[in-house]
Amino acid sequence: MNLIDFAIISKGFEPVDKIKLILFAAKAKPNTYIILKINPKNLGEKYQFEQILRKNKIIFSASRQKGYEEIKNIKGNSINWEMAGIWVGYDLFGSKKDKKDFFRYKSMLRKHHEGMAHRLAGRLYGYPKCCVERFAKETSAYIKKKYSYYEFYKRLHEDDWRFPFVFHMPCSSKCRATVALNKKYSNVVKKHAPKFWKEYRKKKVFDSDMIVDEESDMLVNGKTIWPEKNGHDYSVILKKQYNGKYYLVSYLSKKFYERGTVLSGKVTMQYHYAKIAVKRVKNIIKGLHHERHLPMIGRKY
Ligand SMILES: [Zn+2]
Repeated sequence: MNLIDFAIISKGFEPVDKIKLILFAAKAKPNTYIILKINPKNLGEKYQFEQILRKNKIIFSASRQKGYEEIKNIKGNSINWEMAGIWVGYDLFGSKKDKKDFFRYKSMLRKHHEGMAHRLAGRLYGYPKCCVERFAKETSAYIKKKYSYYEFYKRLHEDDWRFPFVFHMPCSSKCRATVALNKKYSNVVKKHAPKFWKEYRKKKVFDSDMIVDEESDMLVNGKTIWPEKNGHDYSVILKKQYNGKYYLVSYLSKKFYERGTVLSGKVTMQYHYAKIAVKRVKNIIKGLHHERHLPMIGRKY
């Protein structure tokens, strides 16, 4: 089996990881990082994936295995998580030189040479230069000066929605290089995995109740950079299961809702993203409590 076929049929990759793997296998992306989740439904996939990598002479490095949790049920004021399986992060390299450069990049980060590190990462992952330069400049002090809370999160949401095939931070929503790259990547995925491409782009719309949880923030030394907030980027838990799972999605609003508020609304899922239109407030769950033990799965690139 080739890498692209495996990316499509594997149960252990989220859509974004499938896209990155397809782009890498098609040589559109020089290097990449993907996460493979292993649970009772796909026990053989770690072994199978590594066999395919070796057969195709792909240079890779695998992280150690870590556990991950999923929401099992929501009862009263308690959101109950359970161990669902393990995950492994894979760095895939296009050449030995890139692998060496990747470890150079990690060592630059450790030494806090951020500017140099971001530029090297930009080259390794094929990000547009304009976006890399902007990203290197966007320190928390710069962000604080340039954006209000609402503007900052609005931009993140809009970029996710507008550029579903790229995984860097665009320098602006009109960045020409990003528009072109998004189009190019979309075409590569369409060509190699047409069914998956169609499914990824399809809008799935349904009604659901949702529980308001914590808000995003940017902290420096434990303190927010926006003491005056003009919006709220909530994490909400959809009470209705989708594909047999409970989803956590982010929802940006100018309105304040107390943690535990139950909202009723319309959810539109498309790409790796969900949009929410709130219709009304139903009630408030007091003392909302998460029974979870592990941190969320880490992502990068
Ligand atoms: Zn750009």
